This record gives sequence, structure tokens and C-alpha cells, in this order.
Amino acid sequence: MKWSLKIAKVAGIEVYLHWTFIVLLVGVLVGGLRSVNHEGGNLNGFWFIILLFLFVLLHEFGHALMGKRFGVKTNHITLLPIGGVAAMEHIPEQPWQEMLIALAGPAVNFVLALGFLLFLGISGHVPAFSDWWSPVSNDNMVYSLFTTNVMLFSFNLIPAFPMDGGRVLRALLAMKYGRYRATNLAVRIGQLLAIGFVLYGLIPSTGNIWMVFIGVFIYLGAGAEGNYESTRSALVKYKVRDAIMHHFSPLQSSDTIGTAVKMLLDGQEKEFIVIENDAVVGTLNRNEMIEGLGHFGKEAVLSEVMNKVVLRLEPEMQLDEVYDQMTDENVEIAPIFENNQLIGVLNRDNIMELLIIDNSQPHLGLRF
Ligand SMILES: [Zn+2]
Repeated sequence: MKWSLKIAKVAGIEVYLHWTFIVLLVGVLVGGLRSVNHEGGNLNGFWFIILLFLFVLLHEFGHALMGKRFGVKTNHITLLPIGGVAAMEHIPEQPWQEMLIALAGPAVNFVLALGFLLFLGISGHVPAFSDWWSPVSNDNMVYSLFTTNVMLFSFNLIPAFPMDGGRVLRALLAMKYGRYRATNLAVRIGQLLAIGFVLYGLIPSTGNIWMVFIGVFIYLGAGAEGNYESTRSALVKYKVRDAIMHHFSPLQSSDTIGTAVKMLLDGQEKEFIVIENDAVVGTLNRNEMIEGLGHFGKEAVLSEVMNKVVLRLEPEMQLDEVYDQMTDENVEIAPIFENNQLIGVLNRDNIMELLIIDNSQPHLGLRF
């Protein structure tokens, strides 16, 4: 993920801190230093954030370790103030496996909350039920840790993307409707729920502004995640071979931008691979051409303007993983090799076309 700081590597999984988490940490530290003379505070804001960080991290490792049980590798974990993201290589085969992976995170917070509650019970400090949702206070550290985990548990189980609850909902729906349609359904349900949050939050007597914020957050998150998820989940059953384009026009690294522009205007292709001595040395898309034209003029050679990062694909690669990587690294076109022979190319439009042509996918799904 962009704008993140790598802080550790645990069990082969890299852990990143998102910048918003760092800002929050610095902000609270500055605020905390100002009130350092406050009496009786044994849990100041800074330590609270550190512990929150730890709980979120444990939550994500819950997902990661459950994923590992089903052979799903986690590449990295990124921590955000509202939770974490465990980037997994693929969606597991069976919906119930996905459900268990999604539930494993909140389960960690449940166990932690239970542990803190038990401690409170033994030490005779269980607060009155009416105080359970009071803001974090300094006078009962264990109690604050307990409520934090209760909040992490319940917030993540809201049945809407991008929360874990959204994944649980999708998995349940997928058992009946199949993954693709289930994703669309889960997105609609999540957005409906989000609208509910916003409306409820706007009621003057009972609502509050946080409900509105959470609602807007879920609405936007559900849409973005939904688009991505529905594409990705529809691609699970495909390999690179299924979307290969055998007919393509490679450019030479010694060609000029003028030649490339002419090819762009003449044909259907919008992205090209660039070849030098029979090896693929770069790629070129429309934006790079326009930029190159502006900077160097049409006589400049492609080796100066092409994108030199080449994603090498093989026909048997999983299409959902490749799509993921292309989106992540902003790659428009990639060459496909079989036994070190260039046999075709793949671009993101191809992948989309494959989904449109595939009529086993009910594209309209259910909408409400
Ligand atoms: Zn989670």
C-alpha cells in the first residue's frame, strides 16, 4: 500500500503502518505531552494508541493465520486507525473458508475482551452496564482495554464491505448465489445499511455525527471494495491463458514516438510492448506517448519514454492474482511467455472483455 512505513516482519508477513496511523500517533503524543502533569492518569492517550495498534495487529494476524490454514498466503499487513488490511494472495476456494478467515479477526478481539472482562470480574471492577459505552477514561485501564476490544469486535462485524462483516455476509450469500452475485448483493446490502446509519445519525434527538461519518465511510468503502471484489471474484476461475491476446503489434525500442502515435491512430491497440533484440524491454501506453510527445517531440526514440518495468506473465498464472498485481502496480499491458517464448500479451481491457463475454456471469445481478 502507498504511503506506508514498514515496521516489522512477523512470521514471514511484513507489517506496515499507514501514514494516518502515524499522524494520529504523533498528534496524541503531542497532546499527551501537554497534559503530562495530569494527576491519576495511568493510561494516557499515547499508550492507548499503542495498545490499539497492538489489538488491531493481533486482529489482522487472526485473519492471516486462519488464511494460512487454508493455504492462503498473506503478503503484508497494513495498519490504519480504523483497522488493518491483511493483503491475501487470493480468495479461498470455499465460501465457508472465507467466512472463517473473516471471522478470525473479530474473534481475536472477542477473546481479548473476554480476558479483560474476566480480569475486571476477578478484581471486582466490573462497571455498571450503563457506563459500558462511555469514552476512554484514565481511571480504569483494564476497563478501557475491554471496551476498545468490544468496539473493534462490533465495528468490524458490521455486515458491509470493507468490514469483515461484509465478507461474512458475502460468504453466506455465496453458498446460495455463487460468489459473483453474492458480492453484488453484499455491496447493495452494505450501502443500504450505510444510508440507514446516515439517516439515523441525522435524527436530532437520538442521532450523532459519528453515525453519519461511519455511514459515509461504509457507503464509499462498499462501492469501491465492491467493484474491485466483484471483478476479482469473477476472475478466480480463469488463468492468464484465457485472456491472452495473440495478435499484437510490438514496437522496437529504436522506433520514434511518431511511429507509435501512428500505430495508435491506425489500429485498435492502445498499449504496446517494446522490443529490443528480441527481448521485451518496456511497455508504452497512451499517456506515456502524450507525455513523451510533450517533453521530447515526435522524433524521440521509445527507449527514452517507455515504461521500463515489465511484468512477465505465464499462461498458467491465476488471472485474479495477475489482475490484482496489475491494478496494484498500475500496469496496463504485460507480455506472456511460454518456455521463454513471447506468445502474446495481456491488458486490463482484455480482462474486462473476458468478463463481459462470459455469459455465465449474471451481470445485472439483483439490484435494489
Ligand atoms: Zn478484520
